[in-house]
Amino acid sequence: MLGKLTHQKSIKRNILLNPGPATTSKRVKEAMIIEDICPRESEFGDLMHQICDGILEIGNGLETHEVGLFVASGTGAMEATLVSALGDDDRVLIVTNGAYGLRMEAICKSYGLEYDTAFSFGDYPEAAKVKKVLEDGQFTHLAMIHHETSTGMMNPLEEIAEVCKERDVKLIVDAMSSYGAYPIDLKKTPLDYIFSSSNKCIHGMAGLSFVVFHKDRIEELKRNQRAFYFDLYSQWNNLQQKNQLRFTPPVQICYAFMEAIKETLEEGVKARWKRYQDNWQILYDGFKNLGFQFFLPESYESKILLALDLNSKPELDFNDFHDFLYQHQITIYPGVIPECNTFRVAIIGDLQQEDIHHVMKKVTEYMEG
Ligand SMILES: *Cc1c(COP(=O)(O)O)cnc(C)c1O
Repeated sequence: MLGKLTHQKSIKRNILLNPGPATTSKRVKEAMIIEDICPRESEFGDLMHQICDGILEIGNGLETHEVGLFVASGTGAMEATLVSALGDDDRVLIVTNGAYGLRMEAICKSYGLEYDTAFSFGDYPEAAKVKKVLEDGQFTHLAMIHHETSTGMMNPLEEIAEVCKERDVKLIVDAMSSYGAYPIDLKKTPLDYIFSSSNKCIHGMAGLSFVVFHKDRIEELKRNQRAFYFDLYSQWNNLQQKNQLRFTPPVQICYAFMEAIKETLEEGVKARWKRYQDNWQILYDGFKNLGFQFFLPESYESKILLALDLNSKPELDFNDFHDFLYQHQITIYPGVIPECNTFRVAIIGDLQQEDIHHVMKKVTEYMEG
């Protein structure tokens, strides 16, 4: 018996404003310190099932949907969905109004999947326009991003879902940076596939991603099997039949993810959504007061992320600004997108209003330096 871990490490709290991996709670961090266990034990299989059920509960999909869990970053779930959902006779229309839509196109291209694209970087994909494109082409599927994290645009998921349903087109949704924070109701909104990861709005550690799919899709997933590691049917079926994942899971990350799911359900998605919106407003008002302009008109903003136009602050040395904040334990996202001269701040994570007020205090200190 080892007994209690004696070494207590003190960990400083960083405020991450990058769009995931996000600031995690103490509770989620502590869940990773756990006795060693072989993940092929049934006790661990039970944990995998609890994770899947928790994911479904977050989206109100326990009765209608199933989950495939992958050991991968979010892009793994994106790849698994596209390669597993699209059969040889299928053709997908991809909404490419941001960097992540373009990533779906890149995946389809790499597997030789039949696709076409609609919309350009920064466009708003109105449901009526989507409907028109679907009418003019022969598509079996539509793939879209819910919250386009590259611009901060919230695409109109519910409206587009209705259009797809009307036309009997199957809908594939990347809800990477919305699932867990935005109330998605799988019982009401007809979604065939929706995927996300452990480290964004559910506030777990990076390392796992998941695909939620409608029970009606099981047969075609079985028929379409094409990939090996990223085959959704095999991944789901293995856990059902053998109570194990096919390949080695990141054990400690799984315990942390379970804790983060519990935390999400305890807070409630609606309450989390309110907290996100309030936190976002503090950033928006604060940066506006400092004379910043934004990439999007306010009505398109997700209120999860804000893309600031660097052209509105030509005198700002971004790297110096980033480093100043970093020294104060605040991380703004240095990711630069070729299509627009912006920097981005997200309020994803275990962040409270006082954290965001603190951020704006430091930003103001720098700007008025
Ligand atoms: C973060 C993100 C992804 C996945 O990125 P990974 O680095 O692979 O985790 C995919 N789509 C969207 C919209 C995202 O925000």
